[in-house]
Amino acid sequence: MTSHLADASMAVDADGAPADDDAAWQDDVRAGVRHVRDLDSLPLSPAERAAAQAAATRHKVRIPKAYLDLIDWSDPADPIRAQVIPSPEELAEQEGELDDPIADHAFSPVPRLTHRHADRVLLFPTYQCAVYCRFCFRKESLTSIGRGFSREALEPAFAYIEAHPEIREVILTGGDPLSLPDKALAEIRARIEAVPHVRLLRIHTRVPVALPLRVTSGLVRALQGRLMVTVVTHFNHAREITPAAEQACRALRQGGFVLLNQSVLLKGVNDTVEVLEELCRELMYRLGVKPYYLHHGDLARGMAHRRTTIAEGQALASALRARLSGICNPIYVLDLPDGGGKVPLGPSYVEAQDGETWRIRGQDGQVRAYTEIVGDL
Ligand code: SF4
Repeated sequence: MTSHLADASMAVDADGAPADDDAAWQDDVRAGVRHVRDLDSLPLSPAERAAAQAAATRHKVRIPKAYLDLIDWSDPADPIRAQVIPSPEELAEQEGELDDPIADHAFSPVPRLTHRHADRVLLFPTYQCAVYCRFCFRKESLTSIGRGFSREALEPAFAYIEAHPEIREVILTGGDPLSLPDKALAEIRARIEAVPHVRLLRIHTRVPVALPLRVTSGLVRALQGRLMVTVVTHFNHAREITPAAEQACRALRQGGFVLLNQSVLLKGVNDTVEVLEELCRELMYRLGVKPYYLHHGDLARGMAHRRTTIAEGQALASALRARLSGICNPIYVLDLPDGGGKVPLGPSYVEAQDGETWRIRGQDGQVRAYTEIVGDL
């Protein structure tokens, strides 16, 4: 079995509930960009077109119609366009950029599984996605491995999870796990929840963003079982928060899943405090999705033009901290090369320490003293 994106949708009932048929999202896939040649129908400049053809050979192209329709073609710097249309800058790889920026492969004891932290593993049920994002840090794997789901391919990974009682969380990532058929998702979920020491199933997905009609009642049912399920979405801009995305997230919430969002900080897409502030507020207030991480750009190849400096990211994180409530604030992190894991990049509010007295900068910029007073129990 491979991805069922090729057979392509869920319609939304008049009352807003997800319907059971798959026709609508399948139409969305079929009418979108599925091949490099489909770029021919888009209003790109001749220079862009030539570069896009070259860039697309290095990283696959797929854009569902509804996501494509969010692009304002009169704006060359449109933030939706920037995320999915191949660009000439992708061809300019820089020294130090990496095929595998966070060392998934170095920490892979068996195919399709990465075990970097003791209590959790990444499981890659597919290397296919509903949309291919130009900034993806796994794009080399998506291009070089590229395979969809098969039961046999996942057996060594399931056996590994069964044999390691320290594993509490299984994170389905990819590729996009929600690009799989409901039946495959239900099989994977059932197989994982049969392992008694696993407590949490996490799903990392761009489907609610780029192909929200895929979130059918059948998909929700496929994920319901013994395990606590957290769906981690990937919205990068408030323009992606459409009525269909709202409906998809409502269906997931009503299905009993915890919703979090991780964004990537991308120059020209979301690297202003106004854009990030609106994104985070709309995620929490409109979608019920907690902003979880704001990722500093990984060293994915050909992405220098989309990375900010860390100092720029820290200034944005500091401004967000002052403007947003805690529940709306994501943590600004860097996933370190060589498997060092995610670390918060700050900003730090601690200015100095002298013994038990700390000097700490408040959100108003004023530095105040805090003296520790700790008694015996
Ligand atoms: S959906 Fe996720 S895995 Fe797929 S291309 Fe986009 S960022 Fe990469």
